[in-house]
Amino acid sequence: STPGGPKAREEKIVVTVRLRPLNRKEQLAKDQVAWDCIDDFTIVYKPPPNERAAQPASFTFDKVFGPACLTEAVYEEGVKNVALSALMGINATIFAYGQTSSGKTYTMRGITEKAVNDIYKHIMNTPERDFTIRISGLEIYNENVRDLLNSESGRNLKLLDDPEKGTVVEKLAEETAKDDKHLRHLISICEAQRQVGETALNDTSSRSHQIIRLTIQSTLRENADCVRSFVATLNFVDLAGSERAAQTHADGTRLREGCHINLSLMTLTTVIRKLSVGKRSGHIPYRDSKLTRILQHSLGGNARTAIICTLSPALSHVEQSRNTLYFATRAK
Ligand code: ADP
Ligand code: MG
Repeated sequence: STPGGPKAREEKIVVTVRLRPLNRKEQLAKDQVAWDCIDDFTIVYKPPPNERAAQPASFTFDKVFGPACLTEAVYEEGVKNVALSALMGINATIFAYGQTSSGKTYTMRGITEKAVNDIYKHIMNTPERDFTIRISGLEIYNENVRDLLNSESGRNLKLLDDPEKGTVVEKLAEETAKDDKHLRHLISICEAQRQVGETALNDTSSRSHQIIRLTIQSTLRENADCVRSFVATLNFVDLAGSERAAQTHADGTRLREGCHINLSLMTLTTVIRKLSVGKRSGHIPYRDSKLTRILQHSLGGNARTAIICTLSPALSHVEQSRNTLYFATRAK
């Protein structure tokens, strides 16, 4: 299969891995690079000479991006087709999953920027349709939902079940973007708002999930025979650090449980694992957490999902990196 080609275009869940470069702190600490992307699909563990690798050393995905890859490539080959399906009325969600400091926020911000560029390029090239783009932003911290677009909305927003729209977040602000510049501005408000929380309460970003949600609606301008309206949501999700996920065996039983398990993250990993198994998986526990309730209609069913698993290359992080790769493997 060719990534970005026919397979990636049709798959419901596209899973990619991005290995970042060693950062300055890791370099100063003389940390070593423990992973190598040997081709476009395979990442391998490079044990130090004094260690014999007892665990599987090679992992294969739709695409792996090495430390020299730019976000541009991650977007083009791992995200673009999923994101643009929202222009055709198909709900889509893009996740960044990985331990704290592995590059989730760095990657997600770049991806969001590139998706916005592409969406407006598509709008320019589609003069026969009228598009409306609405945006909302929220953060889930300790199962509390907070509005990132309007800080006046309150701190613990309720989730309501709407017979038509599914789960809606009560009082969550939504704004209509006038153009691409305005949309970028609104996104930057959400990003800045998340940082406010971060300085007030240390360690927030490792525990909280951020969702930037675009609702893209379009109608044909001329009343032709093929009048079609499209509406879909496109979610950009910067997840809590994966060290907050319970580690599970391949069969789903709990391996180890720390005291910092994040309910939304744990439920999401279960939902994704069950979706990847397909019809035989039985009940999917969307309702067990705020994150999965909010994303329910953008996960599974007809919806399309791109998961970018971010990885630190450092030997000192090898256990967390391995856990991320196990999650990524199960998500396929
Ligand atoms: P996370 O959100 O997963 O905690 P960040 O996105 O904040 O991690 O990344 C941690 C640090 O590493 C930041 O300083 C970021 O700029 C840097 N970084 C992350 N990914 C890359 C990359 N692919 N290339 C260069 N620097 C990166
Ligand atoms: Mg972050």
